[in-house]
Amino acid sequence: MPTNLAMPGIAAGRLPADQIAVGFSDLEPPLSDHEALVAADRCYFCYDAPCTTACPTAIDIPLFIRQIATGTPEAAARTIFAQNVLGGICARVCPTETLCEEACVRETAEGEPVQIGRLQRYATDRLILGDVHPFTRAPETGRKIAVVGAGPAGLACAHRLAMHGHSVTIYDARPKGGGLNEYGIAAYKATNDFAQAELDWLMKIGGITVEYDRRLGADFTLTELQQSHDAVFLGMGLAGVNEMTLAGDHEGIETAVDWIATMRQSPDKTDVPVGREVVVIGGGMTAVDAAVQSKLLGADTVTIAYRRDKAAMPASGYEQDLAASKGVRLLFNLTPKTVASGSITLARTANRDGKLVETGEQVTLTADQVLLAIGQTLAGAPEVLALDGGKIAVTGPGRSSVPGIWAGGDCAAGGEDLTVTAVAEGRDAAEDIHANLMGGA
Ligand SMILES: Cc1cc2nc3c(=O)[nH]c(=O)nc-3n(C[C@H](O)[C@H](O)[C@H](O)COP(=O)(O)OP(=O)(O)OC[C@H]3O[C@@H](n4cnc5c(N)ncnc54)[C@H](O)[C@@H]3O)c2cc1C
Ligand code: SF4
Repeated sequence: MPTNLAMPGIAAGRLPADQIAVGFSDLEPPLSDHEALVAADRCYFCYDAPCTTACPTAIDIPLFIRQIATGTPEAAARTIFAQNVLGGICARVCPTETLCEEACVRETAEGEPVQIGRLQRYATDRLILGDVHPFTRAPETGRKIAVVGAGPAGLACAHRLAMHGHSVTIYDARPKGGGLNEYGIAAYKATNDFAQAELDWLMKIGGITVEYDRRLGADFTLTELQQSHDAVFLGMGLAGVNEMTLAGDHEGIETAVDWIATMRQSPDKTDVPVGREVVVIGGGMTAVDAAVQSKLLGADTVTIAYRRDKAAMPASGYEQDLAASKGVRLLFNLTPKTVASGSITLARTANRDGKLVETGEQVTLTADQVLLAIGQTLAGAPEVLALDGGKIAVTGPGRSSVPGIWAGGDCAAGGEDLTVTAVAEGRDAAEDIHANLMGGA
């Protein structure tokens, strides 16, 4: 079948379907039974394990690895899910290189950690893909809780509340649940529609209803939620994007999160348009994901242009290496100035006395597609809530400035914008809501 490999501009089908399928397959394949036993055997089962301390959900990592080592991976999965009900997606997307695996004593001693993430996937897949839900619901309490957002924070919160016997309704603005697991995470980290499989599995707890295509602020108000529910949890993520004003012809410019969201919804990616020469502006996980996936779709050249130097880049060394290994070029100390049809001009920058300044020199790159990955912002949060640094202000386990309303995940102030952090915050808010409703707090 002919392909559009050399076609200038933005076009779909630059590579044959089978090549696209290979590129978008699992970034790291699952461990076999034998590989899992070998990997588990490297664990020292440390007392006061640093890996557990480094995990935002505090999974008992030595315990679950021991359970794998002794041939009981289902028990290992239960250990993981007790702390992190989205342990399946976290096993795939967590930046383990800066969390548990960075803290692993074998990383410190030998530069090679126990493969905690891959072992977690080995265990959790047993129950999720085997369709076994290990939790049962407490008797109905008669309490009703509204959760806004079916992303990791909202799902973790809803599941924990349902376990305690409460009735939960989740409202999500989009037609599908999972939040960025479904619309953001790189496709090669969550293959085979995993986000939906995990969502369906999680719902087996019972007591949770989801209403899709229902946006807070447009289809209903916070006051209405307060009137019809005993508590409200906001896990609405960051639905806005930072603005960037660039002079010139803006055709071919898009935000990376929008481009990724559309791309993620294409089943085989053969219909996803991509530029022949792509420039991604930014330096975080989103920039790397947009760049790598552009390359996997057949873009000829893909360049990430980041305004600061390599050391300051928010994407981890692992992610930078991943981008480079896929043929993405990383350029540093460049900030965009103007765009024209087929090119982008950037100014060189330098760090002078701790301040980022333009040096006066300019660089023009060929670009028929420019993807902006310069950060997301809170959008549509009810005005009654106090903000902190542009996010919903919270104290303790997600208590907002308004009694009866909790918030967690990316939309809440503090913490890192990671899937696992969102899960931890959703879970902890649920425990606090439960204690409040049952008179324990
Ligand atoms: C491109 C990209 C790649 C990423 N890759 C990784 C990764 O590899 N590893 C990692 O750990 N983290 C990654 N992250 C970060 C991670 O996805 C987020 O930290 C995490 O999804 C936050 O979960 P959340 O539940 O707070 O928000 P979200 O996942 O954003 O979910 C929020 C939900 O709320 C809904 N919503 C928003 N506004 C409203 C409203 N007004 N009314 C009703 N519903 C609403 C949305 O539709 C959405 O479903 C990535 C982020 C991006 C953008
Ligand atoms: S730090 Fe490493 S070796 Fe120690 S318990 Fe954790 S995974 Fe095992």
